[in-house]
Amino acid sequence: MARDITRNAGEMQHIRVSPAQPAAAAIDIAARAIKSGGLVAFPTETVYGLGANAWDADAVHKIFRAKARPATDPLIAHICSADQLDDIARDAPDLARELCRRFWPGALTLVLPKSAQLPANLTAGLDTLAVRMPDHAVAAALIEAAGVPIAAPSANRFSRPSPTTAQHVLDDLADEVDVLLDAGPTAIGLESTIVSLVDDPPQLLRPGGVPLEALRQVIPDLRFEPRFLSDGEAAPAPGTLLKHYSPRAKLLLFQGSDDAAIYAAMRAEIEGNRRVGLMLGDADAAAFADLDVKVERLGRNAEQAAPRLFAAMRALDGAGVGLILARAPDKQGLGLALWDRLLRAAEGSLIEVQPARGGSR
Ligand code: AMP
Ligand code: MG
Repeated sequence: MARDITRNAGEMQHIRVSPAQPAAAAIDIAARAIKSGGLVAFPTETVYGLGANAWDADAVHKIFRAKARPATDPLIAHICSADQLDDIARDAPDLARELCRRFWPGALTLVLPKSAQLPANLTAGLDTLAVRMPDHAVAAALIEAAGVPIAAPSANRFSRPSPTTAQHVLDDLADEVDVLLDAGPTAIGLESTIVSLVDDPPQLLRPGGVPLEALRQVIPDLRFEPRFLSDGEAAPAPGTLLKHYSPRAKLLLFQGSDDAAIYAAMRAEIEGNRRVGLMLGDADAAAFADLDVKVERLGRNAEQAAPRLFAAMRALDGAGVGLILARAPDKQGLGLALWDRLLRAAEGSLIEVQPARGGSR
């Protein structure tokens, strides 16, 4: 609909599109912005991305500047067909093909040796490249129409919670983006899983939308070593900073199996502190119904919590809370990615809550 296309010279164009069948005219405007070196925010099934032509070093540089992202933090290149892989990666092993067949399009990013022609800033000077094929009709149409791989980190300011709606993109980057394709909230709501195939055995660098369990069916010896604050500064992989995805408020992450003990520990933090917010699953949230605190409910399971997590952090920041209390989820399936994001939002520290004496539940 022409009415949905707002144009103001020199300003961002915010274009609403159908998530399943985006209008060709809208995709064309965004693709032209990419081809002319501009920045386009677009939806994927994980989070909104801030995209630029991956072959264009100046355009890639704009991404780093817009996000205030350190030049040492490499970007993910997004492609729309498996054929494109050989343009940008070198010597992709058979395992890469197998993973592409099984998981693409989807929330799996592969780290592979990179093509020498790619600009150095895309990969932060590394000789490896992170690449994925997103499972979203708008992203696929944009990459196809642009005719180039699109470099795209999440469309948020560096270290802020990732954007799962177009409004989140506007909140962080309204002045930086040339075109915003707005297709409503993203389905998964957490970033992709990153697997390095240049390590032997392959290594999971970041848990995300594709569960570790599904990957281990293809890569039985896939390594995963989560980092804690106590690991100190020992050689973090690029971009896997412990403080990341963070709300402005301080976040305390409670871990334990005894519900009553967890609730008691949380109540002790709430007492006398009026600016506390809770970010909890529905069952846990119900235990605080008597209190006058701001609560963001994350639903009944990890699948429901994932697309709500970053929005909840932003909502609590918006409500002006100074402290957020959350509970570490089970690490199964999508729960592992949720746990990872919460741990980083808590700057790497967990509060272990022991069962009450007598082990009551
Ligand atoms: P995002 O900020 O969601 O776009 O994720 C990009 C992340 O992918 C970076 O922060 C790194 O953790 C990871 N990454 C990208 N390229 C590489 C690479 N060549 N080697 C290892 N990790 C990478
Ligand atoms: Mg990001």
